[in-house]
Amino acid sequence: SKLSSQRKAMIPNVHWSDIGGLATAKKEILNTIQLPLLHPDLFGDLARTGILLYGPPGSGKTLLAKAVATEFSLNFLSVRGPELLNMYVGQSEQNVRDLFERARLASPCILFFDELDSLAPRRGRSSSDSSGVSDRLVSQLLTEIDQQQQDHHIFIIGATNRPDLLDDALLRPGRFDKLIYIGISNNHDDRKQMFQALTQKFQIVDEEYNIDDFVRSCPLNMTGADFYALASTAYLRAIRRLITNNQEKIDEENNIQTVTLIKSDFYDALEHFS
Ligand code: ATP
Repeated sequence: SKLSSQRKAMIPNVHWSDIGGLATAKKEILNTIQLPLLHPDLFGDLARTGILLYGPPGSGKTLLAKAVATEFSLNFLSVRGPELLNMYVGQSEQNVRDLFERARLASPCILFFDELDSLAPRRGRSSSDSSGVSDRLVSQLLTEIDQQQQDHHIFIIGATNRPDLLDDALLRPGRFDKLIYIGISNNHDDRKQMFQALTQKFQIVDEEYNIDDFVRSCPLNMTGADFYALASTAYLRAIRRLITNNQEKIDEENNIQTVTLIKSDFYDALEHFS
């Protein structure tokens, strides 16, 4: 099918250390997946549980799901709600069946549904022009989720910014029944850990740079995605500085140079950021 040709399931490369903060969420996800994975015989049907990560955009939901896959060497298959809906139009429930068949072939795996709310607006309330498409899609999705055999080890994780829009049927036991909130933290340690994770590979050669001071000067309510953008901007400034200062050297030697960051790269980035 179209779906299978589009996507290759593989183990991602996101490690726990790439995620800053979110300690509670990490622990909850681990507890939900680790024990059933290690002792499927003990858990039986109880192991059949789906996780729903909810919270504002850019807070790290996708990152977390990928880290779980990496941690447990699980393939990662992801599908965005709108994408599935589009494919569904004019085709058949077959697309949903194909998706789960792919998941079975890729198992043990994580099947990640991003933007789940767009995929599953409450049945019977969809706008008139959708002609029940999403109703049938949700029904098929529920059927597939319920029919899963435990020995396939397909862990279902959904993500949404709007859990209130989800069909209640999706939240019943055995479906997306484990709700985990992934929020924005204004706690200094959480923010610091996040920025630390995002800059861990940077070479910073400036004794004046102090991560605590810097993170304290960042505006409140920044998401992980915001911190990522900030770190990237700082890095780009360092690259630009390197090129401007060492143009001839780069041309001459034609080898890779180390990008080193200084304090002002971060503060200049912050100025342009906010
Ligand atoms: P959306 O709802 O928009 O899909 P999301 O919650 O799934 O958002 P992610 O895609 O996981 O957000 O995060 C976007 C990027 O932000 C990540 O790729 C990562 O670079 C950065 N990021 C988010 N949260 C964290 C975090 N806790 N630690 C480090 N980086 C983070």
